[in-house]
Amino acid sequence: MGVPVCENGYNFIQVIPGIPIYTVLTPLHKQYTVDLEAKTCTCPRFQFLADGECKHIDYIRRETAPKPETLVRQPMRTSGRAVEEYEAQMRANIASDFA
Ligand SMILES: [Zn+2]
Repeated sequence: MGVPVCENGYNFIQVIPGIPIYTVLTPLHKQYTVDLEAKTCTCPRFQFLADGECKHIDYIRRETAPKPETLVRQPMRTSGRAVEEYEAQMRANIASDFA
């Protein structure tokens, strides 16, 4: 998997798969490290203002958010409901055995 390219000129790389720390490459060829879990960034604006958010954190959060089509599919929800219905049916069967 290559580096995703965004239309605004920013790129990002996930440093370690499974850990929400990203290197952001800006259009001006600067690199900042965003820790999405801790909500920190190494850019001067974040360091100087320290008001909790910068555009890099915002950018990474948008880029790594689940895509809408993924939310619509949700294959696990169907199987989860099937399991719930099965368990409810089993409870009903057991209850009727003791009725
Ligand atoms: Zn930043």
